Amino acid sequence: MTIFEKIIAREIPADIVLEKENLIAFRDVNPQAPVHVLIVPKRVLPRLLDAKASDRELLGDLLLAAAEVAKKLELKNGFRVVVNSGPDAGESVPHLHVHVLGQRQMSWPPG
Ligand code: AMP
Repeated sequence: MTIFEKIIAREIPADIVLEKENLIAFRDVNPQAPVHVLIVPKRVLPRLLDAKASDRELLGDLLLAAAEVAKKLELKNGFRVVVNSGPDAGESVPHLHVHVLGQRQMSWPPG
């Protein structure tokens, strides 16, 4: 069971900012920006590389939820959406998630 499945099952606490039938959004425990939220599908898909055409609706819902979180948390000046897939990207939890980062100026290229 991934740590995110435990959050979905309410076995460990999280600061939940949005929940829908197929996904949940909560604040990252180690925030990299004043606002750092993770959007996580309730059904486990380890990473983007494992996504199939049949996951299209879920993938769309994750991005729509990212925009909804940005609106809800009033990230009016912009925000960044990140998906880390695999070791080179620094993926640390094998349960697909979309990072939403905001309320600070981001740099490019990312580290
Ligand atoms: P990634 O490196 O893209 O796999 O991102 C995993 C993220 O999950 C990291 O930013 C962690 O800080 C975050 N994280 C790990 N455990 C928890 C937790 N229990 N609650 C909230 N965020 C977590």
